[in-house]
Amino acid sequence: MGMDMADIRRELHVLISIAKLDHSLNEARVELGRLPVRVESVRKSLREIENREADSKSRLDDMAKQRRILEQQLEDNEEKLKKYKVQLMEVKTNKEYTAMLHEIDHLEKDTEAKEERLLILMDQLDGESNDNESYLEKSAKDKAQLVSQGEELEKRISSLEQEMQRLRAEKPKLLAELDPGVKKRYERTLAKLHDFAVTHVVDETCQGCFTRIPPQIVVEVKNNDRLITCEACGRMLVYYHV
Ligand SMILES: [Zn+2]
Repeated sequence: MGMDMADIRRELHVLISIAKLDHSLNEARVELGRLPVRVESVRKSLREIENREADSKSRLDDMAKQRRILEQQLEDNEEKLKKYKVQLMEVKTNKEYTAMLHEIDHLEKDTEAKEERLLILMDQLDGESNDNESYLEKSAKDKAQLVSQGEELEKRISSLEQEMQRLRAEKPKLLAELDPGVKKRYERTLAKLHDFAVTHVVDETCQGCFTRIPPQIVVEVKNNDRLITCEACGRMLVYYHV
């Protein structure tokens, strides 16, 4: 390529900036890729709480309805009983009298059974409504927490998207500074690997493919005076402090 040492150093300087930018871009992309699952899990938890609240409310509504029905039936029984007692005074024959007494007895037994059912129901209603109250108290806190978690996630998503947009806008400026041959190489490698084409070395490891680099090559990469390619993945290697 006919580059002298100063050219190469300048080239590597630009490549370091590109490597940093691409790593930031990749980190943002990876994090962004993980967030929708978390958003969905928050939404699912919220739906579960809301479903449980609705179930509890519908159980309470059912019980309250049963209670109103029983109370109405007891009122009806009382009315009937009053009527029967008046009628009892007016019967003419023993046979009619006995039949009437039988009716009254039947009605009183029915009332007794219904009153017992009503008591049990009121007890259940009490328990259920206490449970419901303490559940609602707890679920209100859980929901508030989930809603704020969801908001945090949405905020993070939009900030990552903005960050990626900013980095993408910045990149062509850096690429324009590269030697055309190096730029072509960068673009070819990027097209093949999708994430980044130039990367740095940490702990003697290529940060693109995490293959160990021979110590002698690491020394050369650290010198930043020669274009070195990772033999395992084909990414260009540069050195910088993180
Ligand atoms: Zn590599």
